Amino acid sequence: MNVFDRQIGRRDALKVIGGGAAAAMTSTLHAADDPASGDIDAHSHIWTQDTDAYPLAGNQAKTDLAPPSFTDKELLAVARPHGVTRVVLIQHKPYHGLDNSYIVDAIAANPGVFSAVACIEAAAERPQDEMDRLKANGVRGFRIRPGEGGTDRWSESDGMNAMWRRAGETGLAICPLINPEDLEQVDEMCRKYPDTNVVVDHFARVGIDGTIREKDLKALTGLAKHPKAHLKVSAYYALGNKRPPHTELIPMIRRCYEAYGPQRLMWGSDCPYQLDGPNNYGDSIALIRERIDFLSDDDRRWILRGTAEKVYFS
Ligand SMILES: [Zn+2]
Repeated sequence: MNVFDRQIGRRDALKVIGGGAAAAMTSTLHAADDPASGDIDAHSHIWTQDTDAYPLAGNQAKTDLAPPSFTDKELLAVARPHGVTRVVLIQHKPYHGLDNSYIVDAIAANPGVFSAVACIEAAAERPQDEMDRLKANGVRGFRIRPGEGGTDRWSESDGMNAMWRRAGETGLAICPLINPEDLEQVDEMCRKYPDTNVVVDHFARVGIDGTIREKDLKALTGLAKHPKAHLKVSAYYALGNKRPPHTELIPMIRRCYEAYGPQRLMWGSDCPYQLDGPNNYGDSIALIRERIDFLSDDDRRWILRGTAEKVYFS
């Protein structure tokens, strides 16, 4: 059962009974719940208590999951009331390691609703083969961290070079989860692979200790000189004051907007973490939708939909 089933009303249920069930359900979904009708959350994680089907990495038990579950259905139940109809699922490596099957299965179970960013073994013999396999299953990006690839620097890792090259050849995205000091090696790889789409997570964590430093902002905005570099303006719960209304982040967003333009920025919640404490989904999306004067309606459409659609849903 997917999330739409719960939302089919009695009248629609009768239609299903009256006609070919599959055909009726499809037309019902398109009428009421076209996934392309709303905005896109470019960053959320999911996990499940069904650890028999989707085993946890290492020696973790179900009781280690916090929150205990955040399934595709739970995610959509949070997002849809806010007009968000599509989500880019980010592999949750701490729980699921390099087994991307839960996000891949969620894509298949909810046609048109999800794209995904996977984690793979960059130090493998031919990581590009795993990229090709996952692409065929709907994955459009690959998350990387400093130190992955078997060397200190990505540029010295055969696997990392293979990944960046294949991403450029096939329209996939490389998605670095980094701190400000790592922007310099993203810059190095962007110079080496100018055809590769890059999406940096969470402002490269500028402001994670509460202070937005000019030198970090310079590095972050400097990356915009590469035409294929994109930025997620996301994870407000973790940055600046780390609580709603998040308006102290607006000057940083403005600098990023001026450097990248709206067509290379994308909003993401980082659920379920954005749902902790005083933070919530509504305040995250409201920062872009309602609290920034300098954005035009067209700018908002790009940040809340168009950029992520271009990178992850095409
Ligand atoms: Zn995240």
